[in-house]
Amino acid sequence: MIKDGLLIAQNVEKLNLENSEQLRIHSIESFGTHDGPGIRMVVFVQGCQFRCLYCANPDTMNIKGGSLMDIEDIVARAIKQKPYFGKKGGVTVSGGEPLLQRSILKKLFLRLHEEGIHTTLDSNGRLIDKEAKELLDHTDLLMLDVKHFQNDWHKKLTGLSNTNTFKVAQHREATGKPMWLRYVLVPGWSDQEEYLHQMGEYFKDFKTIEKIEVLPYHQLGVHKWEALGMEYKLKDVKPPSAEILERTAAIFRNYFRDVRVN
Ligand code: SF4
Repeated sequence: MIKDGLLIAQNVEKLNLENSEQLRIHSIESFGTHDGPGIRMVVFVQGCQFRCLYCANPDTMNIKGGSLMDIEDIVARAIKQKPYFGKKGGVTVSGGEPLLQRSILKKLFLRLHEEGIHTTLDSNGRLIDKEAKELLDHTDLLMLDVKHFQNDWHKKLTGLSNTNTFKVAQHREATGKPMWLRYVLVPGWSDQEEYLHQMGEYFKDFKTIEKIEVLPYHQLGVHKWEALGMEYKLKDVKPPSAEILERTAAIFRNYFRDVRVN
């Protein structure tokens, strides 16, 4: 799949330029409680260049899949749900990878702010350019998914480099706006103590990181891989034990003020 990188890159450009009032989405969840603070409407966008071996939503990878939805229809739906958001909630855009549709999302977040709705972006940090920075300016909370600290392991897990993810983190830190880190813990793949410490050392002085969420690997998406005719390579990997989770959380507690296992 990754060998089609050039094609994907061209399509991503197209995706960013296509009808600028429409977002290519996979689905919308009305009352999400796991993707940011409070109760949230979660918009799962379509398209991702990563190929995480454990991806729970491989049907979001294809940038030509999903369906197009008008920005104003998404805003109208969020306004209807606003009474349920309370003080903390709002709208989260997740995926797929939202940065691939950054220009359109900037418009969405601007509109949501006009309506007094909190915005969260859940991103793997795939790219950082002028438009991405503009989107981040209108993002109240960035949830940055760090798939692996060490680049070779990152490439093995996702198919691509983690360089831009750290550039996004550095940029966010420079803006002083809040960020959460998210880390999927995959036994034998992303639980190596030395790299967890290195990651902690790298981020420990960041002032914008409010918390880190450790997300235990699971196999809930396997049937989707099979339905898509794609090979699921982590079949033999079991979810992390309570012991591995606690060991990881204990390591992160040396560096982060708030460590959650979700
Ligand atoms: S970044 Fe997210 S959507 Fe993309 S492949 Fe990885 S888990 Fe799936």
